[in-house]
Amino acid sequence: MASKNRRKFLIQSSSILIAAGTISKHAGAAPMTTAKEVIADHETRIKPLEIVTGDAWWTANVTGKDEDFAAKEKAQNKLDAALADPLRFSKIKAVREAGVADPSEKRQIELLYLQSLEKQVDPKLLEKITAKANSIEKAFNVYRAKVGGVELADSKIRERLKESKSSDERKAVWEASKGVGAAVESDLKELVRLRNESAKNLGFPDYHVMMLALNEQKQSDVIALFDELDTLTRKPFEELKSTIDSVLARQCGISVDELRPWHYHDPFFQETPAVFDANLDEPYAKADILKLCREFYAGIGLPIEDVIARSDLYEKPGKSPHAFCIDVNRMGDVRVLANIVNNEYWMGTMLHELGHAVYSSRNIPQSVPYLLRGEAHILATEGVAMQFEQFSKDADWLAAMGVKVENPKAYDEAGSKAKRGHLLIFSRWCQVMLRFEKAMYADPSQDLNKLWWDLVEKYQGLKRPEGRNQPDYGAKIHIVSSPAYYHNYMMGQLFASQVHHTICREVLGGVSPAKASYVGNPKVGQFMVEKVFAPGRSLSWKELAQFATGEPLSAKAFAADFKGD
Ligand SMILES: [Zn+2]
Repeated sequence: MASKNRRKFLIQSSSILIAAGTISKHAGAAPMTTAKEVIADHETRIKPLEIVTGDAWWTANVTGKDEDFAAKEKAQNKLDAALADPLRFSKIKAVREAGVADPSEKRQIELLYLQSLEKQVDPKLLEKITAKANSIEKAFNVYRAKVGGVELADSKIRERLKESKSSDERKAVWEASKGVGAAVESDLKELVRLRNESAKNLGFPDYHVMMLALNEQKQSDVIALFDELDTLTRKPFEELKSTIDSVLARQCGISVDELRPWHYHDPFFQETPAVFDANLDEPYAKADILKLCREFYAGIGLPIEDVIARSDLYEKPGKSPHAFCIDVNRMGDVRVLANIVNNEYWMGTMLHELGHAVYSSRNIPQSVPYLLRGEAHILATEGVAMQFEQFSKDADWLAAMGVKVENPKAYDEAGSKAKRGHLLIFSRWCQVMLRFEKAMYADPSQDLNKLWWDLVEKYQGLKRPEGRNQPDYGAKIHIVSSPAYYHNYMMGQLFASQVHHTICREVLGGVSPAKASYVGNPKVGQFMVEKVFAPGRSLSWKELAQFATGEPLSAKAFAADFKGD
């Protein structure tokens, strides 16, 4: 669900070029700009650039052509330059500081301020950051793990970690997969230093605090939420892990005490090792996935025919192999890119992307101003997408949709085990990522190798390899390419669980959250529109959680699903 391959497309950039020569000649003498003027300027100058950028982004991903990628980059640079314009920023800042009486205008100015503050970094420093990040990403792309002098592709590493019964082979493959960490270590440390410098220039103590603040998140709040999540999920996670451990140990002919990180089927133990016998693909082998999506969303009162008509859903040469959803103009032009294959993964992915599609300007009234006509926060839209995605592993949902399952009881058992395992294991992994990045940006000079394994031991329950002193954190590309972002996947999941529990309680008459399928019930769609979609960005993510569910965002609903079995 939270793979890097499936992400809501947001018009923002990590590589920003700034146009020179936009300083006012009349600084100081100009009359005070009003909030209305700043907002109107955004709609006349920035909005068209955003639409062109979104459209170019779409085309490049559909065709894969060099000229389309060049057009996409050009559009993005033009947009970034406009957002970075220091005169424009000084006006936004002045209006914000003077105070805005109208609540809608106040909200728009605040969002404009945060969006533009990020782009106010010294262009030379920004160039260095971009170049450093690019060179590390390139190093990742060209790095090939080697075992005994033989290069191993990424897929081969995963295959060996999934299948090998030999601890020695596993260890060698795992160690080779971590080698990229050492290859990028010094560049990564330099990147962290540069990012911290940019944050300090903008008045923040470090880059992690800044990135959260720009996304309306207070670091201490996020940590408190993750502490709660840790407390509520520790016991079910430990129980699950002990079941997994005994199978893994048996398969390799060793004791549980001898298990090390290389026994866990993926290099970071972020997914469930394939120890549970489960074939979830069987019912989808002959199903029409697109038809199921159409019928499901229409049945809950959120039809998606117009989205399908604009979308590009099947494999073709040059096209991006991933999946995403984009709201091009915030006037209902919403499209999904996908590569549907008849299996459970693509059923889940399509439910996920169409979840983004229903939470868009199609279901936020046009009366909501352009600046507020989008999802409240990335965690809210990821949450909605995950809320719908979960049904692909649900036998009750399949039955309600009229899909034949050979053995529904076995499917249900396998499906809920897979769901449960995925959520628990992913939540522990997110703990490591959040806490590592926070601590690394706070004090990059500390022993990061040790910090990493301290956190992995504490939250994922793995044993660190004795005597190993390597920058294993460096092998996770997200630290470079999506910094301070991972926690949003987890918070999105918490939001999904909390909204789902609210629907079960308030719309479905108290049905058990594990049994609710939504199928054929337009009241579900009505709830989503009124309580989650319609406010757009008028509400912050915190306010939205309160508005939709009557409570602040917490880990309670998520954790409740792991009780009692
Ligand atoms: Zn997504």
